[in-house]
Amino acid sequence: MTEDTIAALATAPGEGAISCIRVSGSDTLSVCDKIFKGKHTPSTARDRSVLLGDINDGDGNAIDQVLLTIMRGPKSLTGEDVVEITCHGGIIAPGLVLRRLAELGVRPADPGEFTRRAFLNGKMDLAQAEAVCELVQASSEKAHRVALRQLKGDLSGKLESVENRLLDLLILLEANIDFPDEDIESIEMDRVEGGLGQACEELEGLLEAHRRGQYVKDGLDMVIVGKPNVGKSSIFNRLVEKDRVIVSDHPGTTRDVVDGLVRVNGLMLRVHDTAGIRRAGNPVEEEAVRRTREAVERADLALVVIDSSAPLSGEDREILAEAGAGPCLVAANKTDLPAKAELAGLEVAGTGVAESLEPVRISALEGWGFDDLLESMKKLAYTKTGTLNYEIIVSERHAAGLRSSLESLSRARQAAGDGISPEFIASDLRHALDCLGEVTGRQISTQVLDEIFSRFCIGK
Ligand code: GDP
Repeated sequence: MTEDTIAALATAPGEGAISCIRVSGSDTLSVCDKIFKGKHTPSTARDRSVLLGDINDGDGNAIDQVLLTIMRGPKSLTGEDVVEITCHGGIIAPGLVLRRLAELGVRPADPGEFTRRAFLNGKMDLAQAEAVCELVQASSEKAHRVALRQLKGDLSGKLESVENRLLDLLILLEANIDFPDEDIESIEMDRVEGGLGQACEELEGLLEAHRRGQYVKDGLDMVIVGKPNVGKSSIFNRLVEKDRVIVSDHPGTTRDVVDGLVRVNGLMLRVHDTAGIRRAGNPVEEEAVRRTREAVERADLALVVIDSSAPLSGEDREILAEAGAGPCLVAANKTDLPAKAELAGLEVAGTGVAESLEPVRISALEGWGFDDLLESMKKLAYTKTGTLNYEIIVSERHAAGLRSSLESLSRARQAAGDGISPEFIASDLRHALDCLGEVTGRQISTQVLDEIFSRFCIGK
C-alpha cells in the first residue's frame, strides 16, 4: 500500500473521560512499536487484541496510560492496519499523543480521510461511506436509524438489483445488435421495454424516498398563523418549551418570524411563530394577510389559531382560507374563557380546511389540550410524509444521479416502444448505468470524491 500513515482524534475534542485517536496506514504498527511500552509489542500482538501500556515521548517518559486496539488490514475499517489509541480525555493527553505521532511522520488526517480510504479499498461503496456522514450528523432518532440502514447497504442493495436488471437488458440488446438476422428481435424488444419500465419504476420509488427522506432528515416547517392576540406566541412558547433548541430572531426581519423545534414521534417540526407580522409595523390588514399567505406558502404545514372566546371575524376566515389551501390544522385557543366562536362546521365552512381535522380545543394560558394538539400535528405531518415506513435515505447527490439515470432510461424505453434501432437504446442504457455508477461510486472522478469527503468531520 502506497498511502502514507494518518492519525486524527476520532472523538469530540474537549473534556471527557476518554479520547480515541485513530491511526491508519502501512506504518501504523511500526510507529506504535516506537511510542508504546507495555507487556506486548503492537506489531507482534494478536489481531483485534487490546493492549494496556504507556505512550512515551522521545526521551522515554510516559505521556499517558492508554489502551491500544489492534486491527490489522485488510479486515479493518480502512482496509489498512488500524490502531485505535484510547487515552485520557481533555485536550492535553490527546494533543501530546498526536504530537508524538507527528514526530514519527504520521500525518494529520483530512476530514473524511478514513472513510475515503475505506471506500478506495473496497470496504464500502460510496452510498455507505456517505451514510457515515449522515449518521454523525443525524438530528433525530429516525434520521439516525435510516442512516444506519444505509450504512449497512440498503440503498446499495436496491441499486445493485436495478443495475443487474439493466445489465441483463443491455446483453439482450447487444445480442440484437450483433446478430440482427436471428429471429429474436420482436419478442426481445418487448422484454426490453418491459424491463426498462420496471427499472424506471424502481428509480422513481427511490426518488420518492428521497423526497420523504428529506423530511426525516431536515424536518418539516410548520407555521403558526392567526390574527393578532389569538395566542400564537403563547402557543409557540408552550410547544417549544420542552425541546427548545433554537429560538432566535430571523435575520433580516424585525422579529417577523421566530423559530423553534418540536419533535413528534421522532419527526422534527420547525415551528415558526408569525406573531410579529402585524406588530412589526404592518397595521394594514391586507398586508398582514398577504404576509400570512407567504409564510404559509413557504411552510410545509400550517397551524391556524383562532380565539374561541370571540366570534369569528372576517380576518379569521381569510386566514383560514389562505392556510386551508395546503395541509393545515386549526387550534381554538382560550377555551378557559366562555366560548363565543362558532366552531361547529368550521372545517366545511368553504375554507378548504382539511375535513378530517376538527379544531383542537386548547388553552395556552392554562396549558390544556396540548397532547391533543401534538397528536394532530403528528397526524398532519404524516399526511405530508406518508406512513414513514420507507427506510432508505437518498441524499441530494444520489437523487441527482438517479434523476439523470431515469431520464436516459425513459428515453430508452420510449425508443424501445417506437421500435428504434437497438444501438440507440443501448447507448441510453449505458448512460443510465453510468449515472447509477456515480451513486455507488463504481465510476467517479477524484474531484467528486474530494467534494464528498470534504463534508466529513476529521477522524471519520
Ligand atoms: P399573539 O398575538 O397571537 O401571538 O398572541 P399572544 O400569545 O401574544 O397572546 C395575546 C394575549 O392573549 C396575551 O395577553 C395572552 O396572555 C392571552 N392568551 C393567550 N393564550 C390564552 C389563553 O389560552 N387563555 C386566555 N385567557 N388568554 C390567553
